[in-house]
Amino acid sequence: MSQEWNIRSRGHVCTICQQPLLDKSLVVSALKDTGEGYERFDCHPECWKVTERDWQPFSQWDGVYLAPAKEVKKEPLKKEDAGELLRKLVTLDDPAMKNVVYVLAVMLERSKILVERDAKRRDDGLIRRVYEDRKNGDTFVILDPGLRLENLGEVQQQVVALLSGTKTLGEVASEDEAADTATA
Ligand SMILES: [Zn+2]
Repeated sequence: MSQEWNIRSRGHVCTICQQPLLDKSLVVSALKDTGEGYERFDCHPECWKVTERDWQPFSQWDGVYLAPAKEVKKEPLKKEDAGELLRKLVTLDDPAMKNVVYVLAVMLERSKILVERDAKRRDDGLIRRVYEDRKNGDTFVILDPGLRLENLGEVQQQVVALLSGTKTLGEVASEDEAADTATA
């Protein structure tokens, strides 16, 4: 079974030479599609350039490595909750939640928590988008379910209900399944 989304954390050492990545230095990140998931590379630009590869990255981008902050700063509660919710949903990997996962990722992108790094169209026409957490560099590979505009508001309400705790993940998942059956 192909995974529709994935989380890959940013490394703290260069994938190629295994030497530490330096705070605020340039880093080349790439995802390799292994057929069963994604292998992540974080490398010194020089190492990436001089190393020969017999594979094409699924996705590749330039970023800046930030060393983990020693002190955890207080963030607005809402943003933290949204990021945690996305992490939980991506880990659950439940196809019934694909609309919610996508809309939540877009909301986090608009709040400048995530940045879109790449987009790839699959054979079936749907788009897989690669989002990166601006702060800790984690990558989320998320399927764009091709939501129609008239369904967007409903999904946004589900996300808000999850964030405010008025609905559980199970309730939202069963709503989504019912909606899929109705439109099929
Ligand atoms: Zn290196």
